[in-house]
Amino acid sequence: MPILEVDGLKKSFGAVVAVDGLTMDVEAGSITGMIGPNGAGKSTAFNLITGLIRPDGGTVRFRDTDITGLESYEVAQRGIGRTFQHARIFDKMTVQENLEVVPSPAADTAAEVDRLLSLVELDEHRNAFGEELSGGQQVLLGIARTLMLQPDLIMLDEPFAGVNPGLVSDIAKLLRQLRDEEEATVFLIDHEIDEIAALCDDVIVMAEGKLLVRGEPADVRTDERVVESYLGG
Ligand code: ADP
Ligand code: MG
Repeated sequence: MPILEVDGLKKSFGAVVAVDGLTMDVEAGSITGMIGPNGAGKSTAFNLITGLIRPDGGTVRFRDTDITGLESYEVAQRGIGRTFQHARIFDKMTVQENLEVVPSPAADTAAEVDRLLSLVELDEHRNAFGEELSGGQQVLLGIARTLMLQPDLIMLDEPFAGVNPGLVSDIAKLLRQLRDEEEATVFLIDHEIDEIAALCDDVIVMAEGKLLVRGEPADVRTDERVVESYLGG
């Protein structure tokens, strides 16, 4: 059953058609990856789904409710959490404070902070300042901040970008854990096809604002159109 359904989504910036009739869905309980060349419209699609910008056309349905055009805080309240291409954390706050300032619906906020610190394995760094963390640790903290909102779907824009390999596997492990423990469905953008193939149940390939190919990693990787769009430019 899909948790997220996008139909005919469109967005132009002046003469640039960034998203050009994107139709796709994300299966509940999956890790779904979105890949595609630079400028394919991936981040714009995420921004449209999460209410950061308004579409020119098309619809977004989340858990069978039309959420098209809602403000980002309304989308978050309905259960979609997201992280950005550059982790948005507070440099001058401690790791723990970065979580405490999120308005969590959890009944026991302090307990939820502790649970998430241990889930993302930052408990030993709880008193470190945001700016003292490595890039990968900042991504983990950004994910924990998003999880404070208790989303059913978490959307991550390039969580592995600029992260050292050891932490890439920590982040991948965390995302698998979110899926396996049914904490959240995971939908992420990445540009590394091998990383996506190893992690995802489903892969959506975007090119020129549209869905190019959708399927299991093994099929997508060998698809002629995908090989062409990656190697042929
Ligand atoms: P991707 O994330 O796949 O690399 P983007 O969604 O960031 O692609 O960008 C798709 C296209 O839309 C690109 O041509 C980009 O330059 C353009 N674009 C994205 N955001 C804006 C914006 N706010 N203003 C103008 N053009 C934009
Ligand atoms: Mg992008």
